[in-house]
Amino acid sequence: MERLYLKTAPLGQKTTDDIYAGLNRRVNSGERGVCPVDITTVFLRLCQSQSCGKCAPCRIGLGRIVELLEKILAGNGKLEDLELILTTASAVSDSADCAIGFEAADMVLGGIEVYRKDFEAHVNQGSCIASNQAVRCIWNCPAHVDVPGYIALCGQGRYEDAIRLIRKDNPLPSTCSLICESPCEKFCRRGIIDNTVNIRAIKRAVIDRVGKIPPDECAPKTGKKIAAVGGGPAGLTAAYYLSRMGHEVTIYEKRKFLGGMLRYAIPLYRLPDRFLDADINAILATGVKSVMQTEIGKDIPFDELREKYDVVLVTIGAQGGKALDIPGGDCEGVLLAGKLLSDIIDNSPPDLKGKNVVVIGGGNVAMDAARTSIRLGARSVRCLYRRRMEDMTALPEEIEGAVAEGVEMVMLRAPLRVESSGGKVEALVVQPQIMGEYKAGRPSPRKANLPQERIECDVVIVAIGQSIESEHFSKCGIPIHYDKIRTHLSCAIPEMTGVFAGGDCIFGPATVIRAIEAGKVCAANIDNYLGFSHQIDSGVKIPPPSHKQQYMCGRVTSMEREALVRKNDFALIELPITDEEMLQECSRCLRCDHRGLGALKDGRSFRW
Ligand SMILES: Cc1cc2nc3c(=O)[nH]c(=O)nc-3n(C[C@H](O)[C@H](O)[C@H](O)COP(=O)(O)OP(=O)(O)OC[C@H]3O[C@@H](n4cnc5c(N)ncnc54)[C@H](O)[C@@H]3O)c2cc1C
Ligand code: SF4
Ligand code: SF4
Repeated sequence: MERLYLKTAPLGQKTTDDIYAGLNRRVNSGERGVCPVDITTVFLRLCQSQSCGKCAPCRIGLGRIVELLEKILAGNGKLEDLELILTTASAVSDSADCAIGFEAADMVLGGIEVYRKDFEAHVNQGSCIASNQAVRCIWNCPAHVDVPGYIALCGQGRYEDAIRLIRKDNPLPSTCSLICESPCEKFCRRGIIDNTVNIRAIKRAVIDRVGKIPPDECAPKTGKKIAAVGGGPAGLTAAYYLSRMGHEVTIYEKRKFLGGMLRYAIPLYRLPDRFLDADINAILATGVKSVMQTEIGKDIPFDELREKYDVVLVTIGAQGGKALDIPGGDCEGVLLAGKLLSDIIDNSPPDLKGKNVVVIGGGNVAMDAARTSIRLGARSVRCLYRRRMEDMTALPEEIEGAVAEGVEMVMLRAPLRVESSGGKVEALVVQPQIMGEYKAGRPSPRKANLPQERIECDVVIVAIGQSIESEHFSKCGIPIHYDKIRTHLSCAIPEMTGVFAGGDCIFGPATVIRAIEAGKVCAANIDNYLGFSHQIDSGVKIPPPSHKQQYMCGRVTSMEREALVRKNDFALIELPITDEEMLQECSRCLRCDHRGLGALKDGRSFRW
């Protein structure tokens, strides 16, 4: 008789796995506006089904919490029940044998801490106060672009209307079609069926197909004058909407060209000038003026702008690079990533030909610096990070792209000192690290019990963060916290009437779409401050949804030029999607503006 058998999947296991996969997709698509009491109860029931039942806290404790939650959901709960849930969950958290028990209890404790008002509303009024009906993609785009609307227009070949609709909320559609990190896709409801819609690729498809669009109409002149300090995406966005509202806007920009980091930091292989120029030209076509190569604080004092203009808007970004504070961090051959990237645009790239380069940092800026070094002819490029690959803040596709182009990732190494000979970089000495305890929600590295290592190199590029050059503005009385400008959520500066600020200079280094969000908020509130209430409307009629049957269908992914070819030039990496791919991707959108949560108010704001 046989002693051992090969394992085969138990009958029904595939079905259970499918349920888990479906559950995963559903949870990842995390519907907004769902009752937190209901979702906590459902989650606990799932945890109960995973419990082995050997330890009493998990078996009995979780069951008791579910009973109490169901009582509250049924409208029969009392405030004492809520307290009993907290006491029981604390006991389970302290005494359950394994993560199935204590993690479940911790979720309950965390949920009640954050959503206490909703739990109490169930007890006091028998109903929930969590009633956010937003469409996920619209809500998660910081500028609240009408995603289902423009996808529907694109699907019908109405590209000009699609651009007009996007511009209602985002005046940089061309730029965003290439480099927006697309937070709108994160919880796209299509993920419940198969995978999220490739929203950014559809935007790119529209841009590639649209012809010349006549300039946007502006409201009658108001006679009000606004100065914007800084011509990056935040300043450009505010200027565009204020100009459309009839105000006269002048941008003061210290560089030769408008665009901020989009022009001077993001490499051309990700964002060619023609995409950015298309957006900037459309903004200038509304009548926005610009005074170039003029630095506020050096060429013109900030206070002079306040005297001349009705409103001054500060959108100076996070233009400074954080230096490497270690011995030898200032010797020849140590470069700041931001400066390296902008020197290329200013036609004075550093000579990296045949050199061994080490880039320090794990974010997108580090990836841009590393991939640019490859293109400048470096012999080897290593990217050094003190955590693990999965902890890097750079987008996964950026890391993959860098590796494919020949960048070597050196993980769990912290820089100690730069060694030099004759004042020039010779090596970077590093300390191996080990991942340790969680701090601020992520595991943090600490010194490993291993000897220091010496990495021979000719150039060290520092990409460890950006700083805000806000000293002059601080001296003029603008409140600063560390180096960030402090504003209300309306972007108005406390106790400084007629002064607003937005973008990276208030958030710290962020993203283009957050800068656009800030520009839009500034424009709306400046308009109100000036005593107006103009509305921005696209005037575009959005097609009704079709009634197609939805089958599982793979997400279209944009292709890239071959790594071996693209690493030799600065031409755009991303290839456009085909007509067939575009139409298929458009058809995957579920039109949540008409179905499910969000359908209540047609799921959109036609104007703001
Ligand atoms: C290398 C790199 C890559 C990035 N990649 C991406 C990406 O792929 N996707 C993404 O979403 N985001 C990316 N970002 C972030 C994005 O570029 C920024 O978040 C965004 O540009 C911030 O916009 P802003 O208008 O606030 O500031 P900025 O773009 O920094 O613009 C500020 C402008 O103000 C001007 N200025 C500053 N001080 C003065 C003064 N005193 N007087 C006059 N003018 C002044 C500057 O010259 C500049 O033009 C990247 C950033 C970097 C550094
Ligand atoms: S701008 Fe960015 S976040 Fe907004 S809809 Fe477009 S891709 Fe999504
Ligand atoms: S399916 Fe369409 S409307 Fe729904 S969240 Fe995704 S992109 Fe938005």
